[in-house]
Amino acid sequence: DAMISVRNMSKLYGDFVALDRLNFDVQRGEKIVVLGPSGSGKSTLIRTFNRIEPHDSGSILIDGTLIDDKTNLTQLRCMVGMVFQNYNLFPHLSVVDNCTLAPQLVRSLSRKEAKDMALHFLRQVGIPEQANKYPIQLSGGQQQRVAIARALCMQPEVMLFDEPTAALDPEAITGVVSIMNTLAEQGITTLCVTHEMAFSRHIADKIIFMDRGRILEITPPEEFFTTP
Ligand code: ADP
Ligand code: ADP
Repeated sequence: DAMISVRNMSKLYGDFVALDRLNFDVQRGEKIVVLGPSGSGKSTLIRTFNRIEPHDSGSILIDGTLIDDKTNLTQLRCMVGMVFQNYNLFPHLSVVDNCTLAPQLVRSLSRKEAKDMALHFLRQVGIPEQANKYPIQLSGGQQQRVAIARALCMQPEVMLFDEPTAALDPEAITGVVSIMNTLAEQGITTLCVTHEMAFSRHIADKIIFMDRGRILEITPPEEFFTTP
């Protein structure tokens, strides 16, 4: 069964139709890149999956569960992790404490359990030696890895990335590609909004191409990038 199943799903801002009756499925472990012009609805689309933007009609099922106004948002946001463009780290907390705070509160882990898990994921994203630093002491690429490790500490089924490469140099972009591949190997489903065509080609199992709130195409990258 699909990990994410979207049927006739629409989202309005006032009377502006930001997402127009979308239909598609995402399979477990797939890496999806969402491309399209600025303002086409890419961010809005992925934000309907963790209900930062509630949809107005149609349906969204995640792992078979209907996402609607009765959904427990804490549980949903554990299951559907998000890495924001500006990372949204807590500036007054160390790297490891950024990662351990929510698991202690939401998953009722002990401080020791949460810390062991945080160090595991900080190693996985390649920055274990930064654990005791503060976000301001890190580069943009390192802060982004903290944001990814923090989301992984909630043991998500789905990870959403909103323009993860926007502020990164080419080396850091390569790092993000390899992290997303690792997540896919672990069966985590990833959706990523980006403008970087080269990045998409390397990362994506499928590309969703949006324009004015609609999906024009869902194709594997080799078809998307083939010029007739
Ligand atoms: P993209 O990510 O493709 O750049 P967005 O999903 O951010 O597009 O936005 C899609 C459209 O919805 C844009 O026209 C944008 O101006 C509009 N929009 C986004 N967020 C809001 C909001 N909170 N209120 C009103 N309009 C919004
Ligand atoms: P992105 O394309 O990454 O979503 P934007 O700069 O379009 O970034 O949007 C930044 C924030 O402003 C988002 O939270 C979005 O919901 C909001 N926003 C975007 N467009 C509008 C709009 N026309 N009216 C109100 N809020 C908006």
